[in-house]
Amino acid sequence: MPIGNEWLERILEQEAPGGRPARLSIVVPSVVAPDEPFSIKLAVLDEKGYPSVECDGCAKPLEGPWQVPDGEVRFGRGKTAVHVLSDAVLLEEGVFRVAFDFDGETFLSNPVRCTKAPSTRIWWGDPHVHTIISRCIWQRCRSLNFCFVCARYVTGLDWVAAADHVSNGRSGPEKWKAQRIAARLFDDPPEFVTLLGYEASLKGGAGGDNNVYFADDAEEFVDEYEEGNTRTLCEKLGNQDFIIVPHHTTRTGKHGELSDDLYLGLKHMPVVEIHSKWGASEYRGNPAALHEIHPGPSYVQDYLARGYAFGFIGGTDTHATMPSGGGDESGHIDRLPGFTAVRSSELTRAEMFSNIRARNCYATSGERIYVEANIAGVGMGCDTVWQDASVPRKIDVEAAGESDIVRVDVVRNGRDIFSAKGGGWQAQVSWVDEENLPGVAYPPGGAFDCPFVYYYIRVTCASGAQAWTSPTWFKLIGG
Ligand SMILES: [Zn+2]
Ligand SMILES: [Zn+2]
Repeated sequence: MPIGNEWLERILEQEAPGGRPARLSIVVPSVVAPDEPFSIKLAVLDEKGYPSVECDGCAKPLEGPWQVPDGEVRFGRGKTAVHVLSDAVLLEEGVFRVAFDFDGETFLSNPVRCTKAPSTRIWWGDPHVHTIISRCIWQRCRSLNFCFVCARYVTGLDWVAAADHVSNGRSGPEKWKAQRIAARLFDDPPEFVTLLGYEASLKGGAGGDNNVYFADDAEEFVDEYEEGNTRTLCEKLGNQDFIIVPHHTTRTGKHGELSDDLYLGLKHMPVVEIHSKWGASEYRGNPAALHEIHPGPSYVQDYLARGYAFGFIGGTDTHATMPSGGGDESGHIDRLPGFTAVRSSELTRAEMFSNIRARNCYATSGERIYVEANIAGVGMGCDTVWQDASVPRKIDVEAAGESDIVRVDVVRNGRDIFSAKGGGWQAQVSWVDEENLPGVAYPPGGAFDCPFVYYYIRVTCASGAQAWTSPTWFKLIGG
């Protein structure tokens, strides 16, 4: 009983038959309650991240504060080595990584927080996968079917969006119809969710590369590449419910040129894709930068300084149709894969969409890093009026990585104002910012008609993986 449906396995076998086993991927939910059943998604991957069809090994859970019924899994040569173990439970509260033995070697899952009556969950997704529909590096791409099956069973994601290109005649009504059908077909809440979206490339000075995501279905896409910009794109999308998300804003050439005219505000442009396999666009000089960088102010921190109230998402922008990693990509798409962590109580399309719009989400690269940040009691992605700007802000962070945490940084208005060294795969950081805010505030702009200060948390792991929480904003009115 691998994943329970031979057709799904055949889709993986047909399009990405992986070679010799290199590692066991173990994916668990990031948040569960004690004794609450959850699934463990196992995938044996080859060195490129493709699911192995040459595995005759055995995976079995090691001792720990968990129970995994039917825990021992024997993979068979000639079949795709993916498997879902259901009805696992954690027996006590805490943060754990579930350990498996795989042919004599120990492998660990992503961190899972076990807590009584969790108020919210974390749902991991890749909003930015290209398939063969894109007609872009199509030789490396795979089908829509593969995108969704791989996302769910190989990468172990909770949600995904195939965001294929439409510009330069790369789509049409027939391809859009295929995308809509696939997004409907594979949307399977509460186990797995799809978002319908596409990539709307725009020219330099017109907003650069953006993705459009719909709250639900959409009969037509709008392509404004030749003549339009983010604003005309937004107008022509009309009454549908959608968001437009800029990505790799520092890409050189035609990109990185958002302006006050092109920033669409909270409803239609609530988040930016801060990291993809192209690299991170957080700030100039960041360690995972794109290979060629726009010379102008095109970083996320440049936009935050202007008051563009962006939350953060991460995606792969894979052109090998490998959601969240691996595969034979072109040379310029070689950074760690990006993930988006959406915080919500339930896994549905509507919840994913509305919580991304509410910036109740964070971005990571490379790992499913667990992060809980409390900035003076104000939630991630929220803004608040800070009545007395001299009142200190207490900042608490709890984080857990798949690899050891090297550093936790508190970023305030473009500066790392506090950094704590990590010491293991878990970190707890508490710090009080006593700086008088008016002295460091940015002037009104973008979404803010008053001076403002933002904070976000950056976590860096030994593997190079990072997490960026969506900012929290403090508005200084009359201060
Ligand atoms: Zn492309
Ligand atoms: Zn793309």
